[in-house]
Amino acid sequence: MENCIFCKIVNKEVPNYTVYEDDFVLAFLDIFPHSKGHTVIIPKKHFVDLSAMTEEEWQKMAVALKRVEEKLQTVLQPAGFNIGINDQPAGGQVVPHVHWHIFPRWEKDGGGSVHSIIKNPGELKVEEVWKLFGKSS
Ligand code: 5GP
Ligand code: ZN
Repeated sequence: MENCIFCKIVNKEVPNYTVYEDDFVLAFLDIFPHSKGHTVIIPKKHFVDLSAMTEEEWQKMAVALKRVEEKLQTVLQPAGFNIGINDQPAGGQVVPHVHWHIFPRWEKDGGGSVHSIIKNPGELKVEEVWKLFGKSS
C-alpha cells in the first residue's frame, strides 16, 4: 500500500532491524522502543486491521509470535513479556498496517500490566454484559 511505512519497510524502501522473517511475516525492532528489544511483528501483506485477516493468517502470525518470543528470550533473557495489539484507532492503533507488539520485561523495570491500558468498565454488571451474547456464546 502506497504511503504505508510498514509496506515501505517490507519493500526495503525504509531500513529496519530485522529480528525474524518468514514467508508471511517480518519482525523488527520498534524505532521508539518502550522496553529493551520492543519488537513489532507484521504481515508482509498490507491489512488495515485484524478484521481484514482470515483465521489462517492469524495462525501464521501466532506461530511467528512464538518464534520471536523464543528468540528474544535467548538473546536478551528478559524476566517476562507483554504481547499486545492496538487494533483500530479506538484501540490505539496509529500505523494502519496490522502489527503485534512484543515487549520484553524485567523485574522492577517501571512498567505495568496490560490492565493498565484501560480502567473504564462502563455501567453494566458483568452478568448483564454476558446476557447480551444470548445464545451466541
Ligand atoms: P501503533 O501505535 O500503531 O500500535 O504502533 C506503531 C509502532 O510502530 C510504534 O511503536 C512506532 O514506534 C513504530 N514505528 C513507526 N514508524 C516506524 C519505523 O519507521 N520503523 C520502526 N522500526 N518502527 C516504527
Ligand atoms: Zn502497509
